[in-house]
Amino acid sequence: MQLALSPEDQAFREEMRTFFTTVVPEEIRTKVLEGRELSKEEIAGSMKLLDDHDLAVPHWPEEWGGRGWSDLQRHLYLEEMQAAGCPVPLAFNASMIGPVLAQFASQEMKERFLPKTKSCEIWWSQGFSEPDAGSDLASLRTSAVKDGDDWVVNGQKTWTTLGQHGDWIFTLVRTDPEVKKQAGISMLLIDMTSPGLTVRPIELIDGGHEVNEVWFEDVRVPGRRSASRNRSWPPGSPSWRTSCSPSSSPPCAWSPTPPTASRTRPRACSSSRAPSCSRP
Ligand SMILES: Cc1cc2nc3c(=O)[nH]c(=O)nc-3n(C[C@H](O)[C@H](O)[C@H](O)COP(=O)(O)OP(=O)(O)OC[C@H]3O[C@@H](n4cnc5c(N)ncnc54)[C@H](O)[C@@H]3O)c2cc1C
Repeated sequence: MQLALSPEDQAFREEMRTFFTTVVPEEIRTKVLEGRELSKEEIAGSMKLLDDHDLAVPHWPEEWGGRGWSDLQRHLYLEEMQAAGCPVPLAFNASMIGPVLAQFASQEMKERFLPKTKSCEIWWSQGFSEPDAGSDLASLRTSAVKDGDDWVVNGQKTWTTLGQHGDWIFTLVRTDPEVKKQAGISMLLIDMTSPGLTVRPIELIDGGHEVNEVWFEDVRVPGRRSASRNRSWPPGSPSWRTSCSPSSSPPCAWSPTPPTASRTRPRACSSSRAPSCSRP
């Protein structure tokens, strides 16, 4: 068994080390290494800097900014990034909604969202958990009801990490309350400046503000009628198909594909620390 790095891989490691220790500002790296909190600007700015050098989303399809690296190269990239104290790309963007959009969205949606997702010009929040829908996510009750071409969303999400910074939130909603709870769920991409959407802080025991509640009160979400909504959602393995009108602004409604479709899901954060739980 060959455990030592090949000369090419060693050179790759050196290239990554040099980049992270010379291009990424030392003051930010010091904050990370000392475990101090970063501002939104520091997290987003670091991701933008990585993106400027094609290093924000190397695991994405090459067409959308990926690098086609081997698993070992991705490991070395991440190892050197963390050793240097470079902030890891925002997991919600890089590891969660980005890969889903890259695989399943329409060309129009990809062009609209992916560039700003990988550069962190859009800060995504994750709207899955609810007060009575945590581990049992299929119990979620936030509803989306069709009204003309719009969805009207009502309900509450919770534990929304860094939602105070969010521009958009990928949100699981119940679109058919009549079927078994694992079915009838859709995903909406919702502009967090929409009227009726409120982000409320949850104060942690140390006084910190990392998580939030997100409330939806008659939030209108543009999107055309979907023939494919309310499909079965196998827990842990949804695949999503865009059902947005190209002309809707913003395009936003997604529904699960039929159960026969490919089963993939981006790795979710296992930690509450969004900026450090990304696994590119
Ligand atoms: C700091 C923090 C940040 C988060 N950020 C986000 C976010 O940004 N977006 C988001 O959507 N969600 C977020 N979450 C939610 C998180 O990902 C989990 O979904 C949620 O914490 C689990 O649900 P719960 O807290 O209601 O616990 P519960 O689901 O009520 O579970 C409580 C306990 O019961 C156990 N349990 C549950 N079901 C079973 C079972 N069937 N058998 C045996 N044991 C069981 C669990 O393991 C756990 O120990 C965050 C959570 C935290 C704490």
